[in-house]
Amino acid sequence: MQKERVIVIGSGPAGLTAAMYTARAQLNPLVIAGTQIGGQIAITHEVENYPGFWSEEKTPTGPELVEIMQKQAEHFGARFEYDEVIEVDFSKGAPFYVKTYGNEYEADGVIVTAGASPRHLGVPGEQEFVGRGVSYCGTCDGFFFRGKDVVVVGGGDSAMEEGIFLTKFANKVEVIHRRDELRAGTSLQNRAFANEKISFVWDTVVEEIQGNGVVQGVQTRNVKTGETKKLDTDGVFIFIGHFPNSKFLVGQLAMDEEGYIITDERYRTSVPGVYAAGEIQDAHFRQIATSVGQGTGAAMELEKWLAAQE
Ligand code: NAP
Repeated sequence: MQKERVIVIGSGPAGLTAAMYTARAQLNPLVIAGTQIGGQIAITHEVENYPGFWSEEKTPTGPELVEIMQKQAEHFGARFEYDEVIEVDFSKGAPFYVKTYGNEYEADGVIVTAGASPRHLGVPGEQEFVGRGVSYCGTCDGFFFRGKDVVVVGGGDSAMEEGIFLTKFANKVEVIHRRDELRAGTSLQNRAFANEKISFVWDTVVEEIQGNGVVQGVQTRNVKTGETKKLDTDGVFIFIGHFPNSKFLVGQLAMDEEGYIITDERYRTSVPGVYAAGEIQDAHFRQIATSVGQGTGAAMELEKWLAAQE
């Protein structure tokens, strides 16, 4: 059993910030980073809205921001393990048991920042065509759709941001949205409406993804008229929100009905000594800037809690 002072579970903006703060507080944190460092920003093309890193000449990419955040945390003493947590036992209080595929740990304090993952449509053909035309990441897969036609499902910020990004490659991007107005913020909406390659299919849901080895089309239904239509396309990019990565915490920490960890205003979970920050406990803001703030708060609170235990 490896003994640790602090374990940070997850390596998105909340986790990297919590690691940096606990490292600066001489708590020698170990970050269990998951398989991909950076969480969702690692697969974000451009980050325009994180203050301090933007100029007219250059908007940072997600991976660039992750690299800086990791280097900063490491500089102050954070260590990284590229492994996934598969089990925890918080029931006896500190020290907290944490098990990964490769190791077992005991930590005096834990900060959970395991983030969220893209939600699936759950329609026939979706699973079958993942990697063969169905994608949840424009930044990762857009390149494969050069000169092709794609559809984007969803009407939020992610759908608009990724849809705009996809116009770099695709001939045509059709946004299929279940209502007749977007959820996305005004600035992204305006950019999407102004983009000649983007068109909108309103009040419509995708009922099936069809193809022969690769995606060839989607079966759609207008929710107002009930009319069904086949729409030819080479790719289906799905951006319909996220779910929290909290399965491994079921029965250990209090959660809401969607699986988001319940925290108070100081990022305390239902178990003293275990804190949570970022999208695993925040279904509302979901910004890099807010996750960074939450990671900071959780780290500062854990530091105080550990000091009080001595
Ligand atoms: P979101 O805001 O929850 O939007 C999800 C979209 O998918 C909504 O338009 C929703 O429709 C639609 N949807 C949900 N379930 C569906 C289903 N089963 N079938 C069809 N459509 C469905 O998710 P998001 O766009 O991923 O954004 C998440 C958070 O991250 C937001 O707070 C957003 O502001 C933030 N974000 C910010 C930026 C940025 O600032 N640059 C970029 C990306 C994300 P309805 O509208 O009808 O509910």
